[in-house]
Amino acid sequence: MNRQKLFRYMYNVIHSPVAQATVPVAHDLLRLAREFIKGGLPGQVIVQVTTACEAACQQCAYGRPGAVKKTLPEQKVFEIIDTAAANDFQAISFTGGEPFLLYRRLLRYIQHAGKADIKFIRTGTNAGFLQRPYKKFGDSPLFRDAVAKIADDIAATPLRNLWISVDSTDVETHETNRNLKGVMRAIALSLPVFAKRNIFPAINLGINRLIDGPCPEWEIEGYRDPNKFNAQRFEQRYREGFERYFQLCEELGFTIVGVCYPMAEQTGMYGAASETLTSYSPQELALLFKTLDEVTRQYRSRLRISSPSTALYHLTRGEFGVPCSGGHDYFFISAVDGLTYPCGYIDKPLGEFKDLDFPKLRKENRTCTRCHWECFYDPDQLVGTVRQLLAHPVSVMPKVMRNPELRDRLLFDMRYFLACDFLDGRRPPNCEKLARFAPP
Ligand code: SF4
Ligand code: SF4
Repeated sequence: MNRQKLFRYMYNVIHSPVAQATVPVAHDLLRLAREFIKGGLPGQVIVQVTTACEAACQQCAYGRPGAVKKTLPEQKVFEIIDTAAANDFQAISFTGGEPFLLYRRLLRYIQHAGKADIKFIRTGTNAGFLQRPYKKFGDSPLFRDAVAKIADDIAATPLRNLWISVDSTDVETHETNRNLKGVMRAIALSLPVFAKRNIFPAINLGINRLIDGPCPEWEIEGYRDPNKFNAQRFEQRYREGFERYFQLCEELGFTIVGVCYPMAEQTGMYGAASETLTSYSPQELALLFKTLDEVTRQYRSRLRISSPSTALYHLTRGEFGVPCSGGHDYFFISAVDGLTYPCGYIDKPLGEFKDLDFPKLRKENRTCTRCHWECFYDPDQLVGTVRQLLAHPVSVMPKVMRNPELRDRLLFDMRYFLACDFLDGRRPPNCEKLARFAPP
């Protein structure tokens, strides 16, 4: 069975209610496990369709005045999609800049990927495409009509996940940073319109120092000078910030929620560019991840949260966990030169996507542990650990068994992501199943 067939099969098995309840599932899953051992992770390619963006986030190079705006030619993106499908990639993301600036083209890319049988199709946005009609029509029914047309367009595509990014839990701070006034209200009014069409967008907080409002001076001083670091104040700010984030998600009407982890270094292809806003010291990171882990537990029974507990286990300990699949199973294609990179951070190109030797790259050892780009880090920690277990049970199993917390978190993640329908943005949350994850 090739991997494309395998994942189609796995999808059907998992999503069949009858299958879920019957004994043959165990047999099927064992069979899948055998196949999984032979192959790698499901391939993922992130295609930066454009660097253009109408927002002005101070932490991002694409929002700067005079930033170079580059867009991949349409035929090139079709070629990338076809290459991905021919090489059994199961996940494709269209990113930017702001992909919705290419609205009609973006819809064609999504349709093309669906026709090519790629199952996990995602795109992300700053929601400027909702803010623009909101600016024109305000709270009037005309705004809902405009969003209904957009939602109909998206519903007609096989898009699986639509991510909306935010910079702060304070609406004023977020909208000022983005220069997108009214965007939060536009999102809140749009979510029910999307939900009617079974589209459940996700929200994604890029963790940064604007978490609950403008960054206080004491925090910057503590970052620059470890002797001035105020651990108690820092922890309190981020605990309240994360709590406010999950509350805001619920208030706005989101059901799928994620975070982008801050990076130890902030350079690279992807355009993140503000050292003080998005970089943290090791001391700060340790507290930040511990707090995130604790707060996340309180909300897993109410929201579908994309950060695996296993990933947070490693992050809170300052360990990396499973080395990154960037450049092996996962790839990034830059809109600047159209070339393929291992990820959005390593600026050494691998070449044209169509020319890459994927079987060879998939066989190579994974060694990079430079950053925690959540697009790669989360699936690696979740699926990568399971794969290591299946591939090397004799050496890996004792390590996991000797570590009851890691073992319990792995089991938790498997149950949790099953209850979340693997974050399927075209299915409503199963509140009954999620309720089982309420904290004791
Ligand atoms: S962070 Fe996103 S929304 Fe902000 S300027 Fe950059 S690409 Fe645009
Ligand atoms: S760990 Fe970071 S820098 Fe290394 S390949 Fe993965 S995403 Fe790229």
